[in-house]
Amino acid sequence: QAEAALDRARGANAAGDPPGTPDAIALGAELARAIDENELVLFYQPKVHARRQEIDSAEALIRWQHPVRGLIPPGDFIPVAEAGDLIDRLTLWTIERAIADQLALRAMGHDLRIFVNISGRLLGDTLFAARVCDIVGATDAKLGFEVTETSVIRDPASAIANLQRFADIGVCIAIDDYGAGLSSLAYLKQLPARELKIDKLFITQLTSSNRDPLIVRSTIDLAHALDMEVVAEGVETHAALALLTVMGCDMVQGFLISRPVPRDALVAFLREDGNRRASMETRLSFSR
Ligand code: C2E
Ligand code: MG
Ligand code: MG
Ligand code: MG
Repeated sequence: QAEAALDRARGANAAGDPPGTPDAIALGAELARAIDENELVLFYQPKVHARRQEIDSAEALIRWQHPVRGLIPPGDFIPVAEAGDLIDRLTLWTIERAIADQLALRAMGHDLRIFVNISGRLLGDTLFAARVCDIVGATDAKLGFEVTETSVIRDPASAIANLQRFADIGVCIAIDDYGAGLSSLAYLKQLPARELKIDKLFITQLTSSNRDPLIVRSTIDLAHALDMEVVAEGVETHAALALLTVMGCDMVQGFLISRPVPRDALVAFLREDGNRRASMETRLSFSR
């Protein structure tokens, strides 16, 4: 089986796909085994309300806990999975893991929505969408999918139909990396998306750039006009957080609030968040 994966990775390489370095080919061969042997792990990064600073939801970000190479970031193996035909299995694994974690968090009293990143390669695939609907339709876990606009442009009719199916069974759709890829206002209008995530490209230098604040502000206004909530990703400084709050950005995510962390660390973060809120409420009731 590892040999077959290796061949597929080589084939992808011959076709001119980028993940063709010897290292990427070796990873592709191992990835199939890694999925079976549970070497993949989901880390979680909270999204918080900009004004209230309360946790709204969390994004699942995959890592590969490799026995020899250590923790491998998704940028190193997701393209390999896409080229080697493993992306559907990997994504189904991710959705199932996210459902289990959402239900576990709910049982601990933290019923927050968990967002999963869905590869653009899969968005137009109607058979894949049907499998996803079977899995998601069988649970009441609160889920969201993050998709990029570029992935919709690949095959707009099927992508939009599939996203609508997901939205119909209660999945919250978020548009990821907005502004960084191929953007089309025509598709933006048609997508059943409730959240727009502004790419960190425009956020990390927000307070030192002349143009980024203008772009960000008009994007926030556009999203609100389309009835979507806005999330800024890549919030690293208090100055950026303050400016985004003034601009009316609904939610923020970034290293300032929390890095992506294992599930147990997210639980600790949620407890602190709850305690902080409870003590604020106590203070408020004393001052009344
Ligand atoms: P993304 O979905 O846009 O995720 C945001 C990336 O920015 C994450 O990198 C996150 O760790 C990083 N980030 C978060 N806050 C900050 C910040 O304040 N500053 C900076 N400089 N970076 C920040 P990560 O985890 O390496 O993921 C990279 C990409 O890999 C993701 O981009 C997503 O497209 C993809 N990915 C991750 N997990 C999955 C998955 O389960 N399935 C699929 N198909 N793709 C995934
Ligand atoms: Mg919400
Ligand atoms: Mg994302
Ligand atoms: Mg993003």
